[in-house]
Amino acid sequence: MTEALVSRSVIPAQAAVRPRAAGPPPHEDHALESVTVELGRAIFREIPKHAPSKISPARLDDLMMQLLMRDEDLRYRMLRFVDVYPALRTAKALGEHLEEFLTSPELATVGPGPFTALAQFLGRSRPATRGAIRLASRLGISRMGRQFIAGNTPEEVAKKIRRMEREGFLFSLDLLGEFVVSESQADHFAGRYLEMVERFGSLLGTEPSGRTPAGPRVNISIKLSSLTSKFEPMDPEGTSAAVRERLRPLVRAAQRTGAFINVDMEKYEYRDLTLQILLDLLDEPEFRGFPHLGTVHQAYLKDALPSLEWFLGELRKRGQPLTIRLVKGAYWDSEQIWARAKGWPIPVIMDKRETDASYERCLRMLIESNDIVRTAVASHNVRSIAHAMALAKAFKVPADRFEYQMLYGMAGPIKDALRAMGYPVRIYTPCGELLPGMAYLVRRILENTSNESFLRQRFAEGVSEEKLLSDPKSTR
Ligand SMILES: Cc1cc2nc3c(=O)[nH]c(=O)nc-3n(C[C@H](O)[C@H](O)[C@H](O)COP(=O)(O)OP(=O)(O)OC[C@H]3O[C@@H](n4cnc5c(N)ncnc54)[C@H](O)[C@@H]3O)c2cc1C
Repeated sequence: MTEALVSRSVIPAQAAVRPRAAGPPPHEDHALESVTVELGRAIFREIPKHAPSKISPARLDDLMMQLLMRDEDLRYRMLRFVDVYPALRTAKALGEHLEEFLTSPELATVGPGPFTALAQFLGRSRPATRGAIRLASRLGISRMGRQFIAGNTPEEVAKKIRRMEREGFLFSLDLLGEFVVSESQADHFAGRYLEMVERFGSLLGTEPSGRTPAGPRVNISIKLSSLTSKFEPMDPEGTSAAVRERLRPLVRAAQRTGAFINVDMEKYEYRDLTLQILLDLLDEPEFRGFPHLGTVHQAYLKDALPSLEWFLGELRKRGQPLTIRLVKGAYWDSEQIWARAKGWPIPVIMDKRETDASYERCLRMLIESNDIVRTAVASHNVRSIAHAMALAKAFKVPADRFEYQMLYGMAGPIKDALRAMGYPVRIYTPCGELLPGMAYLVRRILENTSNESFLRQRFAEGVSEEKLLSDPKSTR
């Protein structure tokens, strides 16, 4: 698909972009490496000052995650339970699944632990007690949801965002819900996005359309697949036309109100089409050069670097400034399952340190292009973050061309540490009901509890700073 995209005609550049930042040559690699490690250590020194107190809700969330990390089988069962939970409409169905989850023979072999004890208690208890436990499980899932989802309604979320802003954070609002299956659902989503772009500023109160040093205050993340019921990579032109029909009013509203729109990245199959739709939109005269748009690049893909190079080339041809959020990628498990099911090559890198190395290579490419792109470093990994800081220093990237982004409900002490050190931190803040947001919730639990996760290695397994800060590009 990428080759086909590369051959598209070149649109004359319209927008003014900054002169390319030649800057000094990047530090020698060893110097860059030592600055990375130095900055990483500084972050690690700052983190403990922001640890949650032992009796805070955040501490309770951490404990819940640690329980899930201890045992693979328990983690698998928990995920299955969370996955079927939306379909459990009655207390009876919920109770049966909960019992199955808690009383499995495999779980009994884990040894004495809170879940086993609860299972034994459940087995012996009276119906009224079981009812109470079922209620507790509902509350537990809700609690877990609320850790990662800021609220049901824009009003509820606006309150939390005002607090985050008072603490010095920026935000990007995400509307939960995936899998649009009908055109009326796509209309519904487009309507809700439009409402957020138009109204969210005033919900926040003073200076609704205000700007921050990092750009517009109101920043909304959207998923293009929710703007049509037929997001079909085999029909790129038809899909692009259908999506742009619903995207245009959103971008017009952003132009009018001074908001920022970010196009999130979804599964690999959608990547090239997502980027192409964005370019198609930017080729329309009314949107050419509009700077308050962004998208996402996933470093865990085997072709991450050539794809980024191609996309940056397309932006440069058009003279189109854009923000690019660099992530590792949220669909690592599912990409393998989808590829195997379809008999396609697996698109994701299979070695975690290789993904980390790919992230650093993409970072460098983005920073070298800081005349045309603003870089958003979206990671909770202190090594990746410190490397971004070191590169930004080496290339003397202006402060307004760079920011850090993290997810709501994750890595609190790291967010606080970066903010205390004076870096701009944007929190990706999901809004919506728990049930439509279940896919998001499952991705977050998988991410937090996976063996390879930086957060798990640092906060649950106590891996040494030295190891966590080592260069992923050279230690293989
Ligand atoms: C603000 C924000 C916005 C985001 N938006 C998007 C988005 O639009 N689209 C999207 O896909 N993701 C998005 N993400 C999610 C992001 O991809 C994950 O948070 C991220 O992958 C976790 O990476 P990390 O650097 O924080 O942690 P780390 O622990 O360093 O990395 C974990 C990641 O490494 C990769 N990985 C795990 N195991 C392996 C393995 N065995 N081999 C190779 N690679 C492995 C996976 O990508 C996994 O998520 C967003 C994240 C943030 C913070």
